[in-house]
Amino acid sequence: MKQKVLNSSKIVIISHKNPDGDAIGSSLALKNYLIKKGKDATVILPDSFPNFYDWLQGSENILIADKNIDKAKDIIETADLIFCLDFNDLSRVGDLGELIAQSKASKFMIDHHQNPSDFADFIISRTEACSTAQLIFEFIETMGDLSLINKEIAEGIYTGLITDSGSFKYSNVESKTHLIAAHLLDVGLNHTRIHDLIFDQNNLSRLHLLGHALSKIQLIDELPVAFIALSRNELRKFNFSKGDTEGLVNYCLSIKGIEMAAFIKEDVDLVKMSFRSKGSLRVNDFASTFFSGGGHINAAGGRSEVSFDETVILFKKSVNTFLSE
Ligand code: 5GP
Ligand code: MN
Repeated sequence: MKQKVLNSSKIVIISHKNPDGDAIGSSLALKNYLIKKGKDATVILPDSFPNFYDWLQGSENILIADKNIDKAKDIIETADLIFCLDFNDLSRVGDLGELIAQSKASKFMIDHHQNPSDFADFIISRTEACSTAQLIFEFIETMGDLSLINKEIAEGIYTGLITDSGSFKYSNVESKTHLIAAHLLDVGLNHTRIHDLIFDQNNLSRLHLLGHALSKIQLIDELPVAFIALSRNELRKFNFSKGDTEGLVNYCLSIKGIEMAAFIKEDVDLVKMSFRSKGSLRVNDFASTFFSGGGHINAAGGRSEVSFDETVILFKKSVNTFLSE
């Protein structure tokens, strides 16, 4: 694996649809590391990312595939190594999945989701890890290159660590996670600045959307379940832009006695859903059984192609079935 990386010169890094902080942070950290190793590395994402990540070094050169699929195709076709970060199934990258499958390049998956599919030549899959960003740090460590981690690489890794671990609060945070954070601080990372850039740059309409969403939290009779559903009209009314609803689902889970939470959002041609849970309640199983999705035990997502209103009804029914099993 080490030799493969050293022998490759044209490298592509791809992460999943609706990229989150871990997808973007891991990808840019790896890219900036590979550039330091003298490689030509490009990050390609299936669709656009929230603008509160646009301060990360290299974010301005990320190729967004749904805006420029021909260029993405060219780059993938001529690559000799493709890193697949923070996803473990080609269905998670839209049209890029086909291009990855057809490419002659070697494929290297680095991921922390359950049940990896078998499309890569090299796999680092550690489902207990809190984030792919942690695995990127460990990968650079395995390459014997910790000394190459500078402030910009540290910022990418830290972004992934905090956005996927609820700022170090989820149960999959290990002592190693904190040791990594310590290392990142030692190379000059300003953690207060990063938190501010990611979490404290709200505009008023996002907070008004939050207020509206909180006023719409629904509970399901007799079950420890809370959810929020927002239609396109509601989102439009509050000038929704990508990332504005990130974290909403956690408010449902913060209610005393609630063990499972959902956020249901009407998109252009589908309804997107986020699921969260506490303890051993497996929302990844719920997502894959009822909503063509997947993810982690306590954080998963899925989709529905029936109407928004029908999805809400279907969700309530599915929860009843799932929790009575
Ligand atoms: P989020 O709710 O933040 O969009 O996603 C939570 C977790 O579930 C993430 O780890 C994400 O990768 C995963 N996830 C979200 N949507 C899907 C989906 O449609 N399919 C699969 N397999 N995983 C998803
Ligand atoms: Mn992740």
